[in-house]
Order: sequence, then C-alpha cells, then structure tokens
Amino acid sequence: EEYAKQLIMEKQLEEPFYLMDRGKLKRRWVQWTSNLPRIVPYYAVKCNNDPGLLDLLISLGAGFDCASEAEVARICAAGGDPSKIVFGSPCKMPCHINYAVDAGVKLTVYDSVGELYKTKKYWPNANLLLRIREDDPNARCQLGSKYGANADEFAELLESAKTLGLNVVGVAFHVGSGASDPHAFYRAVQTASHVFDMGTTYGFKMEVLDVGGGFPGGGTPAGEKQFSEIAMCLNSALDEYFPPSRHVQLIAEPGRFFAENSATLVTNILGNRVRKIYDEDGGVSSNVYEYWIGDGLYGNMNCIMYDHAELNARPLKVVSSGVGDQDLKRSVVFGPSCDGLDTVLHDVKLPELEYGDWLYFPEMGAYTMVAASAFN
Ligand code: PLP
Repeated sequence: EEYAKQLIMEKQLEEPFYLMDRGKLKRRWVQWTSNLPRIVPYYAVKCNNDPGLLDLLISLGAGFDCASEAEVARICAAGGDPSKIVFGSPCKMPCHINYAVDAGVKLTVYDSVGELYKTKKYWPNANLLLRIREDDPNARCQLGSKYGANADEFAELLESAKTLGLNVVGVAFHVGSGASDPHAFYRAVQTASHVFDMGTTYGFKMEVLDVGGGFPGGGTPAGEKQFSEIAMCLNSALDEYFPPSRHVQLIAEPGRFFAENSATLVTNILGNRVRKIYDEDGGVSSNVYEYWIGDGLYGNMNCIMYDHAELNARPLKVVSSGVGDQDLKRSVVFGPSCDGLDTVLHDVKLPELEYGDWLYFPEMGAYTMVAASAFN
C-alpha cells in the first residue's frame, strides 16, 4: 500500500497500473520445486505474458507452454530455449506450426486424427504427446468438452500416428483450470500410464508425461493448502505409475500457479456519487455509494467474465483522510466504459472514498491483461 501510494504521488499517476512482486514469484518457484521436485514447470504463457514475469521464469529455469506463434515469438525473443517449449494446443494453425518449426520447437500435442494429417504435412518430425481427457468437474474453467481424447479413441489415435510415420513420445492432460480435486490428477496419471503401455505396443518410445496446468494460484492459506494436497496426490500417483526407474521425463504447464498472486492491480477512482434508496413508503431507507474506476470488465477485469473470478477490492486513500475507515458503506464499483454490464462489484462494503483515491485488487495476475481490450 505504501509503495503504491508513493508511486502515485511521485509519478503523478492518473491511470490504472500493475505492481508485480518478483519476490512472490520466486517464492512460488521454491514452492513448486520443493513440492513437485520431479516435475519441470513449462509455464503457460497464455496466463500472463508480461515480459518481466517471463524473464524471471526463464532465469529460474522454467520451460514454456505456448499456444500460438505470438507466444513462441515472445519466449524466443526473451531468450527462452525453444527445446524447452511445448506447443500445447491440440489444434494448430499451419502458419503457427511453420513458425514454431523454424524457431526450433520440437514438442507438441494432438487429440484428433485430422491434426495428425496436418502434422504429417507441416511438422512431420514433431515429437507428439497424445492429449487425453480427464476432468476435475469442480475446476473453475472446464476444458474437457473441447480438448482431450476419450478412452475409446486412444487406439485409433495411436494407430493413425503409426500409419502416418509420426512419432508419439508420450501423453499430456489438463484436468481444468483452477482445479481443486487432487484425485482428478491421480486418475489422469493412472490413465496416462495405460496409454503409455498402449503406445509401447504400437512401437513408440514413450518417454514424456505432461501433467498440464490447473494448479491453484491463490496465495491465501486455503489456496496454499489446496496446492500442497494436489501435489501430494500427484506425487503418489507418479511414484506408483511413473517411478524414476521408468525413466519418463515429467513436465507440467502451470499458469495461474505462478501468475495469480504475484500481481496487484491498482486503479484510480474517476468519480463518485451517493444514491438514495427508498423504502416502500417513499422514505429514504439507506444510501448506496457508487464509484467509477479506471479499469473494468473490458480491460483487466475481464477475468470476471472469462475466468469466473471474484474480485477483492481494497481502498487506497490518497486524497481523503483515513478517518471513518471503520464505517463501511454499501458500495457499487463500475468500470469506465459506456456499458452497464461493465460493473466490477455490485454490492461491496467500502469506506467512503472520493475522486483522487484509489482501489487496489490483489491476486490479479492470471488471465487478466492477456485478454484485456481497448474498448472505449
Ligand atoms: N495448458 C493448457 C493447454 C491450457 O489450456 C491452460 C489453460 O487453459 C494451461 C496450460 C494453464 O492452466 P492453469 O492456468 O490452470 O495452470
């Protein structure tokens, strides 16, 4: 809070900005390597492609999951090693494939026969992971209806790859973004082991298991507990089905685990008004304090729509005094655009604020700025 206030005053800031805590990101790295020591994280660039975040992850030794030409380009420009990139999209555009091939990317995923024909044409020497479906039904964002092969498709997908002379090297899965059920990871590892055995019977050298993303990003004690429970369950599944003696390379594609809690969004209050609420007899029953802020649903707060996020607003009094902070008012917070849908918080308790004060929103690093538009 003090640092944000200092920046606002010294630099006379008048627009929303992000603060990234590099220490938090480094702590996340330590948490990952101590809880999941066998798995190398290939950070999912789609989650937050901020150059500072990517630079730090490169320096810590991360690989990367890229889903487009632009993401591959960004990692290569930042000095990332293309041999530590998985092109993690099971259905790719040929021009993006061409770019990845030229950049030196070797590893990708597939889950349909059609993608194999495309791979044969554009990337015949690709190392392929068969993406299988295994869902955590309680995950925040479900991915399974779109990507991941069903059990009755495994044989055809392996056989077609064999017939086309393509090289399957392992299995990938993603149980859903913002997962909470450790057993979903367990089930997925179990199924992956079965697909490894199938792949071996088709003559493939199965040597890579990609356990995907889904690891929770919240830095609260509850969020951290969830992560360690998932890690424990995943480790025991790996020890059971993929012990070190099986010599399988283990990677993951975590996004929000690294990005979410390291970034705080700080937004200015553009204006305010107090509205009266009337009771049935026409008397004033209460007041609602309404604020317009500099960011909203069309900007970084698109995570309310697309990532099912619930935002946590905290006041940053820059012009008004701290007096009255205990007296919380029923408040509404609007984004800056013309659209009524652009309402960030419909009913929240805040101290009375005014134009020139700010609000800040912790844990806003995942699936926010990457999908923000310049609408209005
Ligand atoms: N990998 C793939 C293929 C994804 O689709 C996603 C997110 O949608 C991720 C990784 C990152 O997931 P998360 O941020 O939940 O770790």
